[in-house]
Amino acid sequence: MTDLDHLIERYTDLERSIRKKMEELFSGICGMCTACCCRADICEEATQSAFLSLLLEKQDLSEEQMDERYGWLDLHGCSLKYGRPPVCYSYYCDELLARLPNDEARLSAKVLGNLIFHIGRDALGKWHLVEIMNPKDLEKINLSQIFQCLEEAERAYAVIEDYLQSGRLSLGDRNILEAITTETP
Ligand code: SF4
Ligand code: SF4
Repeated sequence: MTDLDHLIERYTDLERSIRKKMEELFSGICGMCTACCCRADICEEATQSAFLSLLLEKQDLSEEQMDERYGWLDLHGCSLKYGRPPVCYSYYCDELLARLPNDEARLSAKVLGNLIFHIGRDALGKWHLVEIMNPKDLEKINLSQIFQCLEEAERAYAVIEDYLQSGRLSLGDRNILEAITTETP
């Protein structure tokens, strides 16, 4: 297995967990939403990005299968199991934020939404992993930086999972969450 294959395996495992957690937290609200924030031009990023295209291939999907008007959105929500652009996780509308009970819950939710963005930051110079369009450039990415960010994201995910069960964040937990970038894609 190459380093890139190993990255794809861990990235998709973490993305699946994040997606599942966000569905548990928010699918009730998003499912009733009359102003869905999904847009076909955002969906298209999954087909333009060299890295996300590999994740589409892994689930036997290609650009031709994307609906021109609705992108990857179908009657059940987003049809991508993984390989969604990072903004699909990091965007929180006011309605979602208003449902969170306190600052700790908001911090945890914001970090949860930024984990996917965090993994790929500065993958090739200042370029984010998903901004790389030429597949040949994936051979030049800074894998040690990406694996370090992936480990930070995995640790932060474990903290958030515990927090959602216990309702408590220790000082050590907060330090782990603070390692995650607050930049938004
Ligand atoms: S994030 Fe907000 S705007 Fe987007 S689908 Fe959910 S409730 Fe609607
Ligand atoms: S969540 Fe899925 S359907 Fe919505 S914008 Fe992202 S890729 Fe498209």
